[in-house]
Amino acid sequence: MSDCQFCGIVHGKSEAKKLYEDEQVLVILAEKPCALGHAQVILKKHAGSLDGLPKDVLASLFWTASFTASSIFEYLGPQGTNIIYHDALKGHEHPVLDIIPRKFEDGLDFQWQPKELSEQENTTAFEKLKDAAFFIGKEKPEAKEREPVQMDEKRKEITGSENYQIRRLVRIP
Ligand SMILES: [Zn+2]
Repeated sequence: MSDCQFCGIVHGKSEAKKLYEDEQVLVILAEKPCALGHAQVILKKHAGSLDGLPKDVLASLFWTASFTASSIFEYLGPQGTNIIYHDALKGHEHPVLDIIPRKFEDGLDFQWQPKELSEQENTTAFEKLKDAAFFIGKEKPEAKEREPVQMDEKRKEITGSENYQIRRLVRIP
């Protein structure tokens, strides 16, 4: 795909500061870093959202992120790292993990205003999520290759159905 920035890097058509590469992932120094040593772990092929990725791919992404963070500690000695995952979406088809070195008072701000929810809203959310989370920790069926989805379409698809079973099937790959 000629217009894909990361495919260009994977296939050697675009320049990048590569730190590591194997069959599944690539680690580069971020082209537009928000801190010195900001690295990105990129899945080399196009994929769907996080919940559809096979176990070996997930393991590869997060295992590589762990080593990348270790390298950053080794070289820069930050006080910590923030690791931010970006799902594959239309126009951004590669799952990416940003590994961001952090130091006290570094000026980066990933804070958000806490949402003011009532106890009832929190309890309802907890009960619904708990019900939907019954499969966490169990073996997922092997995910098939899926096209990246646009977040708005996916949300519409899920919330549009009143049927719990269908909603569940939409989510489980
Ligand atoms: Zn691509």
